Amino acid sequence: MSDHQQPAGTADAAAPSYLLGLVGQGIGASLTPAMQEREGAAAGLRLTYQLIDADVHGFGTDDLPAILRWAQAFGFAGLNVTHPFKQAVVPLLDDLSEDAADLGAVNTVVFRDGRMLGRNTDWSGYGRALRTALPEALGDRVVLVGAGGAGVAVGYALLDAGAEHVAIVESDPERADACAVRLAKRFGDERVGVAADLEAAVADAQGLVNATPVGMLGHPGMAVPEHVVTSRLWVSDVVYFPLETELIGLARERGCRVLPGGGMAVGQAVDAHEHFTGRTADADRMAAHFAELTAPTPQGA
Ligand code: NAD
Repeated sequence: MSDHQQPAGTADAAAPSYLLGLVGQGIGASLTPAMQEREGAAAGLRLTYQLIDADVHGFGTDDLPAILRWAQAFGFAGLNVTHPFKQAVVPLLDDLSEDAADLGAVNTVVFRDGRMLGRNTDWSGYGRALRTALPEALGDRVVLVGAGGAGVAVGYALLDAGAEHVAIVESDPERADACAVRLAKRFGDERVGVAADLEAAVADAQGLVNATPVGMLGHPGMAVPEHVVTSRLWVSDVVYFPLETELIGLARERGCRVLPGGGMAVGQAVDAHEHFTGRTADADRMAAHFAELTAPTPQGA
């Protein structure tokens, strides 16, 4: 420690420095910069996190190779990647973790020794949240509604954590099949299926996860009918704008155990922090900060 007094929450000029960013579209409300910068500061790192928003800067998928090259040249330690670039970034990287290759999606790029390394913390982040919130549910049968990028990541996390079976309910049959094939390739045909009948699938399950955008701000409602939500189920949502979706609210009301979408949002950031900096983030501290960032503003404030 230097002999001058360091103000709380600020890093010493000699502390390791990390320049990070998020590449995506319409990401102005992302909480990831605040979460990463606060965690970095709490750990004494000089960590700066920038938004690189396609809507603001006017770029598209074709520009991704240039964005990665420039970020590397400017000394970025890494980038998070989000919608709509998680799949398009995959072929541009020098190395993929096995899970990112399984998922065909990357949300974390680490620049190290002149190489671009692709990692996926969406699934590991959901798994982390699941193990913390519902440790007794890890071997359950689960209905997964929605098989887009988030759905595949959640299915992967459920099966990796030990789920006996994941039944996919998806309005687009091609997406349903593609998700089932991807998951079965890693975890086996007997543990994954596409369910045509939601009610029958729920009757045969202990858990229900919404991985559709239904319930988001501007996309209200629930992807499942109210009567399937009963107290014997645990219920999870990936939507976290708002944190308390209609589905989570109803599930709480009916006495279900719940895992709201904030768990995945914090979990992906915790695991990405470790990929970027090599240090284990304080998951409880990051969750507490997320709760603070998403706490309702008191009336009149
Ligand atoms: P996506 O559009 O790729 O996939 C959504 C899928 O849901 C589509 O395949 C669509 O056909 C299906 N679907 C929509 N309505 C349905 C219904 N009523 N029944 C069955 N299937 C239905 O979207 P995505 O990238 O997978 O994201 C989904 C949601 O997850 C978004 O709201 C996103 O913000 C959220 N998300 C949250 C986190 C987190 O950290 N919590 C991370 C990633 C994504």
